[in-house]
Amino acid sequence: MTEGIEKLKCLIIGSGPAGYTAAVYAARANLQPVLYTGREPGGQLMITTDVENYPGYPDGIMGPQMMEDFRKQAERFGTEVRYEMISKVDFSGPVHKVWTESGKEVQADSVIISTGASAKWLGLESEKRLTNKGVSACAVCDGFFFRGQEVAIVGGGDTAAEEALYLSKLCPRVHMLVRRDELRASKIMQERVLKSENITIHWNTEALEILGEQEVKGVRIVNNQTKVESVIPVQGFFVAIGHKPNTDIFKDWLDMDNTGYIITKGKTAHTNIEGVFASGDAQDNVYRQAVTAAGTGCMAALDAERYLTEKGII
Ligand code: NDP
Repeated sequence: MTEGIEKLKCLIIGSGPAGYTAAVYAARANLQPVLYTGREPGGQLMITTDVENYPGYPDGIMGPQMMEDFRKQAERFGTEVRYEMISKVDFSGPVHKVWTESGKEVQADSVIISTGASAKWLGLESEKRLTNKGVSACAVCDGFFFRGQEVAIVGGGDTAAEEALYLSKLCPRVHMLVRRDELRASKIMQERVLKSENITIHWNTEALEILGEQEVKGVRIVNNQTKVESVIPVQGFFVAIGHKPNTDIFKDWLDMDNTGYIITKGKTAHTNIEGVFASGDAQDNVYRQAVTAAGTGCMAALDAERYLTEKGII
């Protein structure tokens, strides 16, 4: 160990269900884990309201409350939670090195990655200005606020289809803006969307600008074939064009798919680098649920514990 540099047995990056579950298991296995929360402590559940599908909460629970419970449980067994961002890693040696945003180096025998994924945005200036003022990337979280109002949703994948259907139960009219002349969503989801009487699909259509200063008043759209522009008067604007895993800092080291999801080996949390494990949405573009993220966090901690035992570190 280099003089003065902190050396850990187990370092966890990320503070969603995967990270905190890994922390509970690692702490109970006496790995004395340190967890770096990243810039959004609690992750995607912090922007969710009611969580009704997490087993063990028969009456549902608010996302932020659930993440507080997760954190407390991890801390109860001795996890040290640090509210900082890891911005650089070096996985070239047997001992892994990471750097915090403020430049501090920390070394660890095992690293568990649970950095999650973030919603993709269109990149419009008006979208940024009106985020949380009528613009949202999560219909299930925010759809409720637009009950009885007209809304638009961008995207043609399974997420957009699912969210359009969800919104169609709350809103009199849902405008689905699809940039091509077909949906990417699975056949069954396509059928459901096409059958829904209050979902209007605008084919070959892109959003140019969301109108309004303090709240959404409408969206200016263009047909990318005819170039004809028009305005639809909506009060809510949802973006459902996919997610991006938060894995950029690992791309020089870890095997990933084209989108940046970390590839784990078989039914384990092992990555291509010994002693580095991945869990949660950072390695899962299929299930993306709190409960599956928590499950893979548990797997990562158990795999880390076995790895440290095999190496004679613990
Ligand atoms: P996808 O990548 O599957 O779809 C993204 C959609 O957004 C596409 O229609 C794409 O258009 C469109 N899009 C992308 N960028 C833009 C842009 N800049 N402007 C306008 N439109 C854009 O993402 P999803 O989140 O829908 O799904 C991710 C994965 O999760 C998939 O594998 C999906 O099957 C799965 N999933 C499964 C569910 C289920 O089974 N219940 C529910 C939700 C997701 P284009 O087609 O032209 O590229």
